[in-house]
Amino acid sequence: MGTYARQNIVFARGEGAWLETENGERYLDFGSGVAVNALGHAHPRLVAALTEQAGNLWHTSNLYRVAGQEKLAERLVEATFADKVFFCNSGAEACEGAIKAARRYHFVSGSPERWRIITAEGAFHGRTLTALAAAGNPKYLEGFGPEAPGFDHVPFGDLAAVRAAIGPETAAVMVEPVQGEGGVHVGSADYLRGLREICDEAGILLVLDEVQTGVGRSGKLFSHEWAGITPDIMAVAKGIGGGFPLGAVLATERAAVGLTPGTHGSTFGGNPLATAVGSAVLDVVLEPDFLESVQQKALRLRQSLARIQDQFPSLVTEVRGQGLLTGIKVSVAPAEVVAAALAERLLVVGAGDNVVRVLPPLTVADHEISEGVDRLARALSHLSKSIT
Ligand SMILES: *Cc1c(COP(=O)(O)O)cnc(C)c1O
Repeated sequence: MGTYARQNIVFARGEGAWLETENGERYLDFGSGVAVNALGHAHPRLVAALTEQAGNLWHTSNLYRVAGQEKLAERLVEATFADKVFFCNSGAEACEGAIKAARRYHFVSGSPERWRIITAEGAFHGRTLTALAAAGNPKYLEGFGPEAPGFDHVPFGDLAAVRAAIGPETAAVMVEPVQGEGGVHVGSADYLRGLREICDEAGILLVLDEVQTGVGRSGKLFSHEWAGITPDIMAVAKGIGGGFPLGAVLATERAAVGLTPGTHGSTFGGNPLATAVGSAVLDVVLEPDFLESVQQKALRLRQSLARIQDQFPSLVTEVRGQGLLTGIKVSVAPAEVVAAALAERLLVVGAGDNVVRVLPPLTVADHEISEGVDRLARALSHLSKSIT
Protein backbone atom coordinates (compact mmCIF):
# COMPACT_ATOMS: atom_id res chain seq x y z
CA MET A 1 0.00 0.00 0.00
CA GLY A 2 1.05 3.56 -0.51
CA THR A 3 1.83 4.32 3.12
CA TYR A 4 5.48 5.24 2.65
CA ALA A 5 7.32 7.88 0.62
CA ARG A 6 10.38 5.68 0.24
CA GLN A 7 13.85 6.55 -1.02
CA ASN A 8 14.44 4.77 -4.31
CA ILE A 9 17.21 2.56 -3.01
CA VAL A 10 17.48 -1.12 -2.08
CA PHE A 11 20.05 -2.48 0.33
CA ALA A 12 21.27 -6.02 -0.12
CA ARG A 13 23.53 -6.52 2.89
CA GLY A 14 24.95 -4.77 5.89
CA GLU A 15 27.85 -4.95 8.28
CA GLY A 16 28.33 -2.80 11.34
CA ALA A 17 27.53 0.81 10.47
CA TRP A 18 27.58 0.11 6.73
CA LEU A 19 24.93 -0.87 4.21
CA GLU A 20 25.60 -2.03 0.68
CA THR A 21 23.35 -1.99 -2.39
CA GLU A 22 23.18 -4.83 -4.90
CA ASN A 23 25.66 -2.86 -7.05
CA GLY A 24 28.16 -2.70 -4.22
CA GLU A 25 27.64 0.99 -3.35
CA ARG A 26 28.40 1.47 0.34
CA TYR A 27 26.37 3.77 2.58
CA LEU A 28 27.20 4.85 6.11
CA ASP A 29 24.11 4.16 8.20
CA PHE A 30 23.50 6.97 10.71
CA GLY A 31 19.80 6.18 10.86
CA SER A 32 20.04 2.62 12.20
CA GLY A 33 16.63 1.78 10.78
CA VAL A 34 15.17 4.55 13.00
CA ALA A 35 17.11 3.71 16.15
CA VAL A 36 16.51 -0.02 15.77
CA ASN A 37 19.85 -1.55 14.71
CA ALA A 38 21.45 -0.75 18.07
CA LEU A 39 24.42 -3.01 17.39
CA GLY A 40 24.66 -2.22 13.69
CA HIS A 41 24.07 -4.73 10.92
CA ALA A 42 24.91 -8.43 11.08
CA HIS A 43 26.45 -8.27 14.54
CA PRO A 44 28.13 -11.69 14.93
CA ARG A 45 26.61 -12.30 18.38
CA LEU A 46 23.10 -11.56 17.11
CA VAL A 47 23.55 -13.64 13.97
CA ALA A 48 24.77 -16.55 16.11
CA ALA A 49 21.88 -16.24 18.59
CA LEU A 50 19.28 -16.09 15.83
CA THR A 51 20.68 -18.93 13.71
CA GLU A 52 21.14 -21.19 16.72
CA GLN A 53 17.57 -20.56 17.82
CA ALA A 54 16.30 -21.01 14.26
CA GLY A 55 17.66 -24.56 14.25
CA ASN A 56 15.89 -25.45 17.49
CA LEU A 57 12.48 -23.84 17.86
CA TRP A 58 10.68 -20.87 16.30
CA HIS A 59 7.31 -20.54 17.93
CA THR A 60 5.09 -22.28 20.43
CA SER A 61 2.62 -19.47 21.43
CA ASN A 62 2.07 -18.17 24.93
CA LEU A 63 -0.07 -21.18 25.83
CA TYR A 64 3.16 -22.70 27.16
CA ARG A 65 6.19 -21.49 29.05
CA VAL A 66 8.85 -20.08 26.72
CA ALA A 67 12.38 -20.59 28.06
CA GLY A 68 14.04 -17.78 26.13
CA GLN A 69 11.26 -15.38 27.11
CA GLU A 70 11.71 -16.19 30.79
CA LYS A 71 15.44 -15.69 30.47
CA LEU A 72 15.12 -12.28 28.80
CA ALA A 73 12.46 -11.20 31.31
CA GLU A 74 14.75 -12.15 34.20
CA ARG A 75 17.62 -10.20 32.65
CA LEU A 76 15.42 -7.12 32.18
CA VAL A 77 14.11 -7.35 35.74
CA GLU A 78 17.65 -7.66 37.06
CA ALA A 79 18.88 -4.66 35.05
CA THR A 80 15.95 -2.27 35.64
CA PHE A 81 13.31 -1.00 38.09
CA ALA A 82 10.86 -3.61 36.80
CA ASP A 83 9.49 -6.72 38.50
CA LYS A 84 7.27 -7.83 35.62
CA VAL A 85 7.62 -7.96 31.83
CA PHE A 86 5.10 -8.48 29.04
CA PHE A 87 6.45 -9.09 25.54
CA CYS A 88 4.98 -7.85 22.28
CA ASN A 89 6.30 -7.09 18.80
CA SER A 90 6.45 -3.34 18.34
CA GLY A 91 6.57 0.04 19.99
CA ALA A 92 2.91 0.84 19.45
CA GLU A 93 1.93 -2.43 21.08
CA ALA A 94 4.26 -1.73 23.97
CA CYS A 95 2.56 1.66 24.46
CA GLU A 96 -0.88 0.05 24.23
CA GLY A 97 0.15 -2.53 26.80
CA ALA A 98 1.46 0.21 29.08
CA ILE A 99 -1.82 2.13 28.79
CA LYS A 100 -3.83 -0.99 29.51
CA ALA A 101 -1.68 -1.85 32.52
CA ALA A 102 -2.13 1.68 33.94
CA ARG A 103 -5.91 1.61 33.56
CA ARG A 104 -6.23 -1.90 34.98
CA TYR A 105 -4.07 -0.96 37.96
CA HIS A 106 -6.66 1.57 39.08
CA PHE A 107 -9.54 -0.73 38.12
CA VAL A 108 -8.36 -3.47 40.47
CA SER A 109 -7.16 -1.01 43.14
CA GLY A 110 -10.59 0.41 43.86
CA SER A 111 -10.50 3.47 41.57
CA PRO A 112 -12.09 2.26 38.32
CA GLU A 113 -13.01 5.87 37.52
CA ARG A 114 -9.32 6.62 36.97
CA TRP A 115 -8.71 5.82 33.31
CA ARG A 116 -7.59 9.08 31.66
CA ILE A 117 -3.95 9.56 30.78
CA ILE A 118 -2.04 12.84 30.57
CA THR A 119 0.30 12.89 27.56
CA ALA A 120 2.59 15.46 25.97
CA GLU A 121 2.11 17.55 22.87
CA GLY A 122 4.59 16.60 20.15
CA ALA A 123 4.69 13.01 21.41
CA PHE A 124 4.84 9.90 19.28
CA HIS A 125 3.63 6.56 20.61
CA GLY A 126 3.00 4.59 17.41
CA ARG A 127 0.27 4.15 14.81
CA THR A 128 -2.46 2.09 16.44
CA LEU A 129 -5.67 4.02 16.99
CA THR A 130 -5.11 4.41 20.72
CA ALA A 131 -1.42 5.28 20.39
CA LEU A 132 -2.38 7.97 17.87
CA ALA A 133 -4.96 9.39 20.26
CA ALA A 134 -2.37 9.33 23.04
CA ALA A 135 0.02 11.44 20.98
CA GLY A 136 -2.77 13.60 19.59
CA ASN A 137 -0.99 14.64 16.38
CA PRO A 138 -3.87 15.85 14.17
CA LYS A 139 -1.92 15.03 10.99
CA TYR A 140 -1.92 11.31 11.85
CA LEU A 141 -5.47 11.19 13.23
CA GLU A 142 -7.31 12.75 10.28
CA GLY A 143 -9.72 10.47 8.49
CA PHE A 144 -9.60 7.59 10.91
CA GLY A 145 -12.89 8.18 12.66
CA PRO A 146 -13.54 9.34 16.20
CA GLU A 147 -10.36 9.68 18.23
CA ALA A 148 -9.99 7.12 21.03
CA PRO A 149 -11.01 8.96 24.22
CA GLY A 150 -9.14 9.27 27.48
CA PHE A 151 -6.07 11.42 26.76
CA ASP A 152 -5.34 14.93 28.03
CA HIS A 153 -2.54 16.68 26.17
CA VAL A 154 -0.26 19.21 27.84
CA PRO A 155 2.91 20.94 26.59
CA PHE A 156 6.07 18.81 26.91
CA GLY A 157 8.31 19.99 29.73
CA ASP A 158 5.59 21.91 31.56
CA LEU A 159 5.09 20.57 35.09
CA ALA A 160 2.49 23.17 36.02
CA ALA A 161 0.36 22.07 33.07
CA VAL A 162 0.55 18.45 34.25
CA ARG A 163 -0.53 19.48 37.75
CA ALA A 164 -3.44 21.46 36.37
CA ALA A 165 -4.56 18.59 34.13
CA ILE A 166 -4.84 16.04 36.93
CA GLY A 167 -8.43 15.30 37.89
CA PRO A 168 -10.42 12.59 39.65
CA GLU A 169 -10.34 10.46 36.49
CA THR A 170 -6.59 10.65 35.90
CA ALA A 171 -4.81 7.28 35.93
CA ALA A 172 -1.32 8.15 34.74
CA VAL A 173 1.09 10.51 33.04
CA MET A 174 2.80 9.08 29.96
CA VAL A 175 5.76 10.76 28.24
CA GLU A 176 8.93 10.02 26.30
CA PRO A 177 12.03 11.10 28.28
CA VAL A 178 13.31 12.42 24.94
CA GLN A 179 10.77 13.06 22.20
CA GLY A 180 12.38 11.36 19.22
CA GLU A 181 9.96 11.60 16.29
CA GLY A 182 8.78 14.97 17.60
CA GLY A 183 12.23 16.47 16.98
CA VAL A 184 14.68 15.27 19.65
CA HIS A 185 13.29 17.32 22.51
CA VAL A 186 15.14 16.28 25.65
CA GLY A 187 13.09 16.22 28.84
CA SER A 188 15.29 17.68 31.59
CA ALA A 189 16.18 15.75 34.73
CA ASP A 190 14.12 18.30 36.69
CA TYR A 191 11.12 17.63 34.46
CA LEU A 192 11.29 13.86 34.97
CA ARG A 193 11.88 14.23 38.72
CA GLY A 194 8.97 16.65 38.87
CA LEU A 195 6.71 14.18 37.06
CA ARG A 196 7.71 11.46 39.50
CA GLU A 197 6.85 13.69 42.45
CA ILE A 198 3.54 14.83 40.97
CA CYS A 199 2.48 11.25 40.22
CA ASP A 200 3.38 10.09 43.73
CA GLU A 201 1.47 12.96 45.33
CA ALA A 202 -1.61 12.35 43.18
CA GLY A 203 -1.54 8.56 43.53
CA ILE A 204 -1.25 8.07 39.78
CA LEU A 205 1.27 6.13 37.71
CA LEU A 206 4.25 7.40 35.73
CA VAL A 207 4.50 5.67 32.35
CA LEU A 208 7.62 6.27 30.28
CA ASP A 209 7.78 5.52 26.56
CA GLU A 210 11.41 4.49 26.12
CA VAL A 211 10.80 2.82 22.76
CA GLN A 212 13.37 5.09 21.09
CA THR A 213 15.53 6.14 24.07
CA GLY A 214 15.92 2.66 25.55
CA VAL A 215 18.55 -0.07 25.45
CA GLY A 216 21.61 2.18 25.45
CA ARG A 217 20.57 4.80 22.89
CA SER A 218 20.63 7.54 25.57
CA GLY A 219 24.02 6.48 26.92
CA LYS A 220 22.38 4.75 29.88
CA LEU A 221 20.50 1.47 29.61
CA PHE A 222 17.32 3.58 29.92
CA SER A 223 17.10 7.35 29.65
CA HIS A 224 15.28 7.87 32.97
CA GLU A 225 18.46 6.77 34.75
CA TRP A 226 19.96 10.19 33.85
CA ALA A 227 17.29 11.78 36.08
CA GLY A 228 17.75 9.26 38.89
CA ILE A 229 14.09 8.28 38.90
CA THR A 230 12.15 5.18 37.95
CA PRO A 231 8.76 4.91 36.25
CA ASP A 232 5.97 2.55 37.28
CA ILE A 233 5.50 1.28 33.75
CA MET A 234 7.75 1.53 30.69
CA ALA A 235 7.28 0.77 26.99
CA VAL A 236 10.31 -0.64 25.17
CA ALA A 237 10.88 -1.74 21.55
CA LYS A 238 13.14 -0.60 18.67
CA GLY A 239 16.71 -1.26 19.93
CA ILE A 240 15.82 -4.16 22.19
CA GLY A 241 15.56 -6.53 19.23
CA GLY A 242 18.55 -5.09 17.37
CA GLY A 243 16.50 -5.38 14.16
CA PHE A 244 14.32 -8.34 15.08
CA PRO A 245 10.75 -7.19 15.87
CA LEU A 246 10.43 -7.19 19.65
CA GLY A 247 8.73 -4.97 22.19
CA ALA A 248 8.10 -5.14 25.90
CA VAL A 249 6.10 -3.56 28.70
CA LEU A 250 8.05 -3.37 31.93
CA ALA A 251 6.36 -2.61 35.25
CA THR A 252 6.73 -2.79 38.98
CA GLU A 253 4.87 -5.59 40.73
CA ARG A 254 2.36 -3.03 42.04
CA ALA A 255 1.67 -1.41 38.65
CA ALA A 256 1.30 -4.80 36.93
CA VAL A 257 -1.27 -6.04 39.43
CA GLY A 258 -4.19 -5.64 37.06
CA LEU A 259 -2.82 -7.76 34.25
CA THR A 260 -4.01 -11.18 35.38
CA PRO A 261 -4.49 -14.22 33.09
CA GLY A 262 -6.74 -13.38 30.17
CA THR A 263 -6.60 -9.59 30.52
CA HIS A 264 -3.97 -9.05 27.83
CA GLY A 265 -2.01 -11.16 25.38
CA SER A 266 -0.18 -11.56 22.10
CA THR A 267 0.23 -14.51 19.75
CA PHE A 268 3.76 -13.70 18.68
CA GLY A 269 4.89 -11.64 21.68
CA GLY A 270 8.10 -12.94 23.24
CA ASN A 271 8.52 -15.70 20.71
CA PRO A 272 11.71 -17.80 20.94
CA LEU A 273 13.40 -16.18 17.92
CA ALA A 274 12.74 -12.63 19.11
CA THR A 275 13.74 -13.25 22.71
CA ALA A 276 16.91 -15.13 21.72
CA VAL A 277 18.02 -12.02 19.82
CA GLY A 278 16.82 -9.73 22.61
CA SER A 279 18.95 -11.60 25.14
CA ALA A 280 21.98 -11.36 22.86
CA VAL A 281 21.44 -7.59 22.47
CA LEU A 282 21.25 -7.21 26.23
CA ASP A 283 24.37 -9.35 26.72
CA VAL A 284 26.37 -6.90 24.60
CA VAL A 285 24.83 -3.68 25.93
CA LEU A 286 25.33 -4.78 29.55
CA GLU A 287 28.99 -5.69 29.08
CA PRO A 288 31.25 -3.60 31.30
CA ASP A 289 32.23 -0.32 29.61
CA PHE A 290 29.74 -0.63 26.74
CA LEU A 291 27.48 2.21 27.89
CA GLU A 292 30.55 4.24 28.87
CA SER A 293 31.76 3.90 25.28
CA VAL A 294 28.35 5.01 23.97
CA GLN A 295 28.66 8.15 26.10
CA GLN A 296 32.15 8.86 24.75
CA LYS A 297 30.99 8.37 21.16
CA ALA A 298 28.01 10.61 21.81
CA LEU A 299 30.29 13.36 23.09
CA ARG A 300 32.53 13.04 20.03
CA LEU A 301 29.52 13.13 17.69
CA ARG A 302 28.03 16.12 19.47
CA GLN A 303 31.29 18.08 19.30
CA SER A 304 31.68 17.28 15.60
CA LEU A 305 28.11 18.36 14.91
CA ALA A 306 28.71 21.59 16.85
CA ARG A 307 31.61 22.30 14.48
CA ILE A 308 29.26 21.74 11.56
CA GLN A 309 26.86 24.22 13.08
CA ASP A 310 29.73 26.75 13.26
CA GLN A 311 30.54 25.99 9.63
CA PHE A 312 26.95 26.33 8.37
CA PRO A 313 25.26 28.66 10.85
CA SER A 314 22.48 29.64 8.45
CA LEU A 315 21.61 25.98 7.74
CA VAL A 316 22.13 24.35 11.15
CA THR A 317 20.53 26.34 13.96
CA GLU A 318 20.86 23.88 16.85
CA VAL A 319 22.45 20.59 17.86
CA ARG A 320 20.70 18.66 20.60
CA GLY A 321 20.11 15.21 21.96
CA GLN A 322 20.99 12.65 24.59
CA GLY A 323 23.55 9.93 23.99
CA LEU A 324 23.44 8.77 20.39
CA LEU A 325 19.90 10.08 19.95
CA THR A 326 21.07 13.27 18.29
CA GLY A 327 19.35 15.88 16.18
CA ILE A 328 20.34 18.94 14.19
CA LYS A 329 17.72 21.59 13.71
CA VAL A 330 17.91 22.94 10.17
CA SER A 331 16.53 25.99 8.41
CA VAL A 332 15.44 24.05 5.30
CA ALA A 333 13.03 21.12 5.05
CA PRO A 334 14.66 18.11 6.81
CA ALA A 335 13.87 16.03 3.70
CA GLU A 336 16.30 18.21 1.72
CA VAL A 337 19.11 17.44 4.14
CA VAL A 338 18.20 13.74 4.14
CA ALA A 339 18.35 13.73 0.31
CA ALA A 340 21.63 15.68 0.19
CA ALA A 341 23.15 13.26 2.72
CA LEU A 342 21.91 10.29 0.69
CA ALA A 343 23.76 11.71 -2.32
CA GLU A 344 26.91 11.58 -0.14
CA ARG A 345 26.00 7.99 0.79
CA LEU A 346 25.09 8.85 4.35
CA LEU A 347 21.77 7.80 5.90
CA VAL A 348 20.10 10.14 8.39
CA VAL A 349 16.44 10.41 9.41
CA GLY A 350 14.00 13.31 9.44
CA ALA A 351 11.91 14.23 12.49
CA GLY A 352 9.39 16.85 13.54
CA ASP A 353 10.26 20.47 14.37
CA ASN A 354 12.62 20.75 11.35
CA VAL A 355 15.09 18.31 12.84
CA VAL A 356 17.31 15.74 11.14
CA ARG A 357 18.15 12.83 13.41
CA VAL A 358 21.67 11.43 13.49
CA LEU A 359 21.37 7.95 14.98
CA PRO A 360 24.47 5.85 14.37
CA PRO A 361 24.55 2.33 15.78
CA LEU A 362 25.80 2.21 19.38
CA THR A 363 28.79 0.24 18.10
CA VAL A 364 29.90 2.96 15.66
CA ALA A 365 33.69 3.44 15.55
CA ASP A 366 35.33 6.82 16.12
CA HIS A 367 36.66 6.96 12.54
CA GLU A 368 33.13 6.24 11.30
CA ILE A 369 31.81 9.19 13.29
CA SER A 370 34.42 11.39 11.59
CA GLU A 371 33.53 9.93 8.19
CA GLY A 372 29.79 10.44 8.78
CA VAL A 373 30.22 14.03 9.90
CA ASP A 374 32.47 14.73 6.89
CA ARG A 375 29.76 13.39 4.60
CA LEU A 376 27.14 15.47 6.35
CA ALA A 377 29.35 18.57 5.95
CA ARG A 378 29.67 17.87 2.21
CA ALA A 379 25.90 17.45 1.94
CA LEU A 380 25.30 20.74 3.75
CA SER A 381 27.91 22.47 1.61
CA HIS A 382 26.08 21.39 -1.58
CA LEU A 383 22.78 22.50 -0.06
CA SER A 384 24.11 25.91 0.97
CA LYS A 385 25.46 26.46 -2.57
CA SER A 386 22.15 25.51 -4.15
CA ILE A 387 20.28 27.88 -1.82
CA THR A 388 22.47 30.98 -2.30
C1 LIG B 1 8.94 4.32 17.12
C2 LIG B 1 8.22 4.69 18.35
C3 LIG B 1 6.99 4.09 18.70
C4 LIG B 1 6.26 3.15 17.79
O1 LIG B 1 6.98 2.00 17.50
P1 LIG B 1 6.48 1.00 16.35
O2 LIG B 1 7.40 -0.17 16.50
O3 LIG B 1 6.63 1.73 15.06
O4 LIG B 1 5.07 0.67 16.64
C5 LIG B 1 6.43 4.42 19.92
N1 LIG B 1 7.03 5.28 20.74
C6 LIG B 1 8.20 5.88 20.44
C7 LIG B 1 8.83 6.81 21.42
C8 LIG B 1 8.83 5.61 19.23
O5 LIG B 1 9.97 6.23 18.93
